[in-house]
Amino acid sequence: MTFQSLGLAEELLKAIEQTGYTTPTPVQMQAIPAVIGGSDLLVSSHTGSGKTAAFTLPALHKLIDRRPSPGAGPRVLVLTPTRELAQQVEKAVQTYGKSLRWLNTACLVGGAPFFAQAKQLQRPVDVVVATPGRLLDHLNRRKLKLSDIEVLILDEADRMLDMGFAEDIDAIVAATPAKRQTLLFSATLEGVVGAMAERMTRNPLRIEI
Ligand code: AMP
Repeated sequence: MTFQSLGLAEELLKAIEQTGYTTPTPVQMQAIPAVIGGSDLLVSSHTGSGKTAAFTLPALHKLIDRRPSPGAGPRVLVLTPTRELAQQVEKAVQTYGKSLRWLNTACLVGGAPFFAQAKQLQRPVDVVVATPGRLLDHLNRRKLKLSDIEVLILDEADRMLDMGFAEDIDAIVAATPAKRQTLLFSATLEGVVGAMAERMTRNPLRIEI
């Protein structure tokens, strides 16, 4: 199987080629066409499976497919448990999106100056990658609106719950449109993660790698 056969836009195929990937990983083979087709996802997969590209590539594809209306807020939101992971995901978005000249990203994480981040949000931003606590700060202080979110991604959802972010996540999700697409990635889909997944997704495709 090739990346081309998964239905990704030309601009992304070019970036993938430059990155040196030749074949999609199993999670990418299943997740990418499903997300392009509009499905919610519940994915149990680990670091090293290629999960970051499995959600980043189709999310960017959707951004290319339909340009935003003027004044729109971010259309893709990725929540991660840690600052380091958020920075890695933002870097992946920039790598795969490098031929999209209009693409703007913001990384909103704890331990970094709040006002510098708030300033970033004064220009149009397409993709926000964030840790839940800091994102909620920006939301509560009205530096950010989530009413244009089309794709919400929870990366390492089990770790976010372990770290006590459940309430923050609920508040964030409540600020996004109900008609969004939701993709949840986690090492396990059992227990509290499963219950959260149930609340946040609609007819999700389950992928277990
Ligand atoms: P992840 O599971 O997202 O942390 O990715 C693990 C590593 O695999 C990262 O260094 C990626 O750059 C790399 N990677 C992701 N997709 C592919 C692919 N299709 N072919 C080769 N390497 C990949």
